[in-house]
Amino acid sequence: MTILNWLAKKQPPTRSKTEKLNIPGDVWSKCPTCSEVLFLKELEKNLSVCPKCNYHFRLSPEDRITYIFDKNSFEETHAAIEGIDFLNFEDTEKYKDRLKKAQAKTNHKDAIVTGTALLKKIPVNIGVMNFGFLGGSMGSVVGEKITRLIESGAENKNPVIIFTSSGGARMQEGIMSLMQMAKTSAALYRLEQAKVPYISVLCDPTTGGTSASFAMLGDLNIAEPDALISFAGPRVIEQTIRQKLPKGFQRSEFLLKHGMLDLVVDRKAMRQTLYTCISILGGQP
Ligand SMILES: [Zn+2]
Repeated sequence: MTILNWLAKKQPPTRSKTEKLNIPGDVWSKCPTCSEVLFLKELEKNLSVCPKCNYHFRLSPEDRITYIFDKNSFEETHAAIEGIDFLNFEDTEKYKDRLKKAQAKTNHKDAIVTGTALLKKIPVNIGVMNFGFLGGSMGSVVGEKITRLIESGAENKNPVIIFTSSGGARMQEGIMSLMQMAKTSAALYRLEQAKVPYISVLCDPTTGGTSASFAMLGDLNIAEPDALISFAGPRVIEQTIRQKLPKGFQRSEFLLKHGMLDLVVDRKAMRQTLYTCISILGGQP
């Protein structure tokens, strides 16, 4: 061992220094990518994007709606629809109990918030998924609310915008969750027939059955930077094709480069970009 190596080993890594700091969680937050310690109020002013490395923090539906749409214009629809435990499902915990806990934690009945809002005075139908509710999983409630949102768009001619953030189908509902892929896709076909635009905004992470249905069926598919977007996880793919996957695989920028997305848009530019797109595709001011 050389002396330089020895000295390097003696130096504690800078990371563990910051980890030892006692940071009150309600005032400060640490960027999971660059480890910068950020003042929460400043972070919120910056739309929950790290000013140092541009990491886009995951958002609650409330924050996302506040950041993107006209002030106080959001009106929620179908807020009371609740899940049913079709299968009496139980793994390490009863599905019923998991649902109750997630409802208490998020103050929502399920993993999506839907409604109408104004985007620079253009009325739009919006859905915002909530990764904080059972990993944003798509069960029968998410599928039903998305379908109703799209059907109402076909009727009232409001463009539809859905922000996805989801681990995929909700396994506790078995086949009932899988059929939501077909149901939401069929609703989108009818929206297309009605000539109403649909924009999908893919946020970190959008995976599994969500990415394999409405998330990738937008007239425009827009993603936030560095979002994980995939159907199966990288390990499963590597084992199946027996090849090492390239760097950045399944991230927004990689998918844009390979023609799977139309745009990657910073959160700060999202409001203006959506407005421009909808103006071109035909919203009604
Ligand atoms: Zn950062």
